[in-house]
Amino acid sequence: MSFTLISTANDSSQARRGELRTAHGTIQTPIFMPVGTAATVKSISPRNLKEDINAQIILANTYHLYLRPGTKLISQAGGIHRFMSWDRPVLTDSGGFQVFSLKDLRKLTPDGVEFRSHLDGSKHFFSPESVMRAQRKIGADIIMAFDECTPWPATEAEALSSLNLTRKWTETAMDWLKDNPPLHGYEQLFFGIVQGSMYPNLRQQAVEHIVDLNPDGIALGGLSVGEPTDVMYDITSACAQWLPPHKPRYVMGVGTPWNLLELVHRGMDMFDCVMPSRNARNGMLFTWNGVLNYKAARHSQQLDQAPDENCQCYTCQNFSRAYLRHLHNAKEMLAMHLATIHNLHFYLDLMDKARQAIEINDYHNWSKNIIPQLQQNIKE
Ligand SMILES: [Zn+2]
Repeated sequence: MSFTLISTANDSSQARRGELRTAHGTIQTPIFMPVGTAATVKSISPRNLKEDINAQIILANTYHLYLRPGTKLISQAGGIHRFMSWDRPVLTDSGGFQVFSLKDLRKLTPDGVEFRSHLDGSKHFFSPESVMRAQRKIGADIIMAFDECTPWPATEAEALSSLNLTRKWTETAMDWLKDNPPLHGYEQLFFGIVQGSMYPNLRQQAVEHIVDLNPDGIALGGLSVGEPTDVMYDITSACAQWLPPHKPRYVMGVGTPWNLLELVHRGMDMFDCVMPSRNARNGMLFTWNGVLNYKAARHSQQLDQAPDENCQCYTCQNFSRAYLRHLHNAKEMLAMHLATIHNLHFYLDLMDKARQAIEINDYHNWSKNIIPQLQQNIKE
């Protein structure tokens, strides 16, 4: 077993403290995984990820790496860790979400998806087998099923036919993996993905199907795709009651700091989202005292104020809001770099504090108190 459930909060919260062992190290959960789509977390180096952010695991994307630079080159390098010089765990998303986001550029068949590259229009075909082969070559520690991310809204009939495709493809992928061992000399964990849109009965069927297949971990996909936040929380709560306690639970593509805390409260373990890194580059910081728009003119004279006075990151320990605002105003690259370091440090710090709160059975109180603070100035 790769996952150990260390404790579950017993203060009217479902929050869990766990450990996930992978070939490149053990991950303490709950955890946030910075997104490094193209084998890089934009604007920062693997050294920053280790020393400034203490990322335990990062995420890369099969669709993007398959198109550029191609999985052959990454395989020749000995896998993604050597290719990008990162020796801690990596998870690759299968690319299902990206392929299905192409809309006009794709054609769905029972065996897979034909699509055109968003880079040069060239034609490609993804099947459950070919996506597993690509992920064997890339060599992440955790690889994901090839699923159809059901768009929202969807009728129940649409959601069911989409779910049936994901179920069939997951079985095909697992059969293929049994016959085709890892290529780079270490084990890869496989996570199945639960779809079913916003229909609890379909989600229940999907969970039961995945549990029967017995993957190393279970992900909830098709959330944060435009549905109201309360619906996302309700679907997650519903799934939590059917999920087995001894498997890690990964909610894909979510979200804000308060979304993460609400989902931890509902018993989820792993998260990824482009939001902290993308928003940092666009001028928005998440802080312990709410959202900060560091582009705003009112920060132009704030020489004595750190972006977040309660943050221990390199950026907040060394630079003022006035300097960060100046860098952004002058379109200097350092603005993106420093802002990304802060936001990712903040997300990892938040998960660290969440783990500590679970350990002392205080998660419910702690999260209820901290969420309104984090949400200050949200419309700034
Ligand atoms: Zn900071």
